[in-house]
Amino acid sequence: MTNQNNLQAVQITVHGIVQGVGFRPFVYRLAHAHQLIGTIANNGDGVVIEIKGTADLLDRFIHDLQHTAPPIASITSLDIRKCVPLPVCTAFTILPSDPGVKPNTQIAPDIALCQDCLAELNDPDDRRYQYPFINCTNCGPRFTIVEKTPYDRPNTSMKIFPLCDLCTQEYEDPLNRRFHAQPNACPVCGPKLSWHDRQGSLIESDDCIKETVQALTENTVVAIKGLGGFHLAVNAESDQAVQLLRERKHRRAKPLAIMVQDIAAAEQLSIISEQEKELLCSPQHPIVLLEKKADTRLASDLAPGNRHTGR
Ligand SMILES: [Zn+2]
Ligand SMILES: [Zn+2]
Repeated sequence: MTNQNNLQAVQITVHGIVQGVGFRPFVYRLAHAHQLIGTIANNGDGVVIEIKGTADLLDRFIHDLQHTAPPIASITSLDIRKCVPLPVCTAFTILPSDPGVKPNTQIAPDIALCQDCLAELNDPDDRRYQYPFINCTNCGPRFTIVEKTPYDRPNTSMKIFPLCDLCTQEYEDPLNRRFHAQPNACPVCGPKLSWHDRQGSLIESDDCIKETVQALTENTVVAIKGLGGFHLAVNAESDQAVQLLRERKHRRAKPLAIMVQDIAAAEQLSIISEQEKELLCSPQHPIVLLEKKADTRLASDLAPGNRHTGR
């Protein structure tokens, strides 16, 4: 058993993008792995950890904190202070956020669907099979849904969707990928798709995706609400549809980006270097300008006078 006299404690304030990126669950697991006890909480300055253990274990904890943080977290600085007296606690726990503190923490950007969520999305036995709002601590909306900091569910637009029992279990389980995932949702408790006409009136539909595909096939412009706002979509293989979008938006020559399902589909249309592939598959999923291949079925007017198109 650890001799209490050998224990030291530190308070670590972590600044940067550390809210909404699975940082608290990461620290929770790290503290347990190093057999350290203490607390962690979001506050206006970032994340504050009070932790105690032997000097050796604390050193290793701080090292791992800096070097194994979740990929979308970004630590700009750590303030480390000795705590006297030692925090009174018998386990490592996540404290509720302090609502009284003025926030100035950066919010993470929206993050593209991760591979784990993609696998669930395509798994007919998964309870989120084909659920369009699937997400976890490693992916999904952040900036789009946050209304104020600290970044906790009651401060996001997801607050109107109370979690069902299964989602609550995931949210409260430190070993679950959705532990404290603020936008956590499922077909039972989360947002649902709806289909509207051009006046915004609801059209009853039991398969909005199918309706969208049908509309795109018929060269209609579809406004799709997603992360960051609406985007206007047309069939990229139809000269007529691209022309219609250009007329409606009064954009005669602005290059349009093409959406594809995966790298294999992008490779049919463009020449892609390893570096470009890496960018396309990164959590940020940026639009990447790629060199067009000749002889594709793409509409001629997607990026007039340009040998590149965006994916
Ligand atoms: Zn995910
Ligand atoms: Zn649910």
